[in-house]
Amino acid sequence: MILAVVGTRPEVIKMAPVIHALRRHGLPVKLVTTGQHHDVRMMGSFLETFGLEVDHALTLVHRDLLGSFIDILSALAGVMSRTKVALALAVGDTTTVLATALAARKSGVGFGHIEAGLRAFSRELPEEEHRICADAIGDLLFAPTRIAAENLVREHVNGAVHLTGNTILDALRSHPPTAVPRARRAGVLVTIHRQETVDDRRCLGRVLDALTRLSVRELVEWPIHPRTLSKIIEFDLDLPPNVHITEPIGHIGFLERLASARLVVTDSGGVQEEAAILGTPCVCVRESTERPETIDAGVGLLAGTQTAGILAAIGEILTDWDRFARPVPHLYGDGRAGEKIAEACAGFLESKLPVHLRAVGG
Ligand code: UDP
Repeated sequence: MILAVVGTRPEVIKMAPVIHALRRHGLPVKLVTTGQHHDVRMMGSFLETFGLEVDHALTLVHRDLLGSFIDILSALAGVMSRTKVALALAVGDTTTVLATALAARKSGVGFGHIEAGLRAFSRELPEEEHRICADAIGDLLFAPTRIAAENLVREHVNGAVHLTGNTILDALRSHPPTAVPRARRAGVLVTIHRQETVDDRRCLGRVLDALTRLSVRELVEWPIHPRTLSKIIEFDLDLPPNVHITEPIGHIGFLERLASARLVVTDSGGVQEEAAILGTPCVCVRESTERPETIDAGVGLLAGTQTAGILAAIGEILTDWDRFARPVPHLYGDGRAGEKIAEACAGFLESKLPVHLRAVGG
C-alpha cells in the first residue's frame, strides 16, 4: 500500500497526477489529508477538481507550528501502524512533508519526496529546513529540474534521485486554460502568503504599500490567502483600497486568470512555475527563490520585499513586456512527471518483495 499525504492546496494539485498515475499502474494508494488546509476554498475544491476521494482525513487539534507538526506526526504514525504501508509520498516543503518523512522513517516505511532538491540557500526559511530534512531521509527523491537534481547530488543524499519534471505541468495539462492572444492580456494578478512575507508586520506593510501604488494605474486582482487576510487584521493594516480583493479561486479559474493577466506579483512557489509555463511575466516578491528557473528563463524578476524594489521590477516588466512574456512550456518537465514517479514507485515496491515474488527480470 502507498500512502499519498497532502496538507495544503498546492500539495493536492501536485499530488493528483501521481495518484492517477499510480492507479493506472494498478498500485494500491490511499490519500491522507493532514488538515493544514481544511476548508472548501483551500482544500475541498481542489480535491473535487482532480476527482480525489480522501481515505483518511486527520484533524489538527493545534494550529501553531510545533503543535500541528506533533499532531500530524502522531496521527500519521497511527495510520502507518494500522495499515500495511510500504511507501509514503509527500510533495513540497510544508510541515506535512517533514512529518510524513519522519513518521515513515520511524515506522520502517519507505519515503518518497516529490519536488526534492529545491533550495533557496536561505537556512532561515522553515521550508528550506523541511526540504533538506525530507531529502536527507527520503528513499526516492523526485527532482523536478536538473538544478534540483544537482543540489541533491551535491548534498550526497542516500536516496535514489529521479529527474522527473514537476507534476504541476501534468496538473495544468489536465485542465489547460484558454489561450488568450497577447494583445488581449490585461491586469495584474497577485498572490502573497508566505510566512516570511506576511508574518512580519513591516514586510507585509511594504508589500501592501506597493500594491496600493500599483493599483492607481493598473487593474489589480488579489485572491487573498486566508493566512494573509488574518495577518492584515491582526496587524491592523489596511487592505489596498483600489485592489479587487476576492476569496481564493479554484484551480481552473485561477489558471484562466493567470493565463490572461499581463503580470503576476507573487511569493508563491507554484505560481512562479505556472507563470513560466504560461508566459505570464512574474514579479517574485522574495529575497531568494528555490525556483531560479523562472528567473533564469527571463520570464520573471526577483524583486525582494522592499516597496521600491517591487515597483521597480513591475515597471521594468511592463515597459518591456514582450521581452518577458514568453511561455517556456517545458521549463518544468514534459508533463509526464506523474507517470515517471509512478514507475519509480512500482520499482521500489517490487524491490521490497521477496525474490521469488518479483517479476521476471525485476
Ligand atoms: N492557486 C489557486 N487559487 C488561488 C491561488 C493559487 O488555485 O487563488 C494555485 C496556483 O495555481 C498554484 C498553487 O495554488 O498551483 C500555489 O499554491 P500556493 O501559492 O498556496 O503555495 P506554494 O506554491 O507557494 O507552495
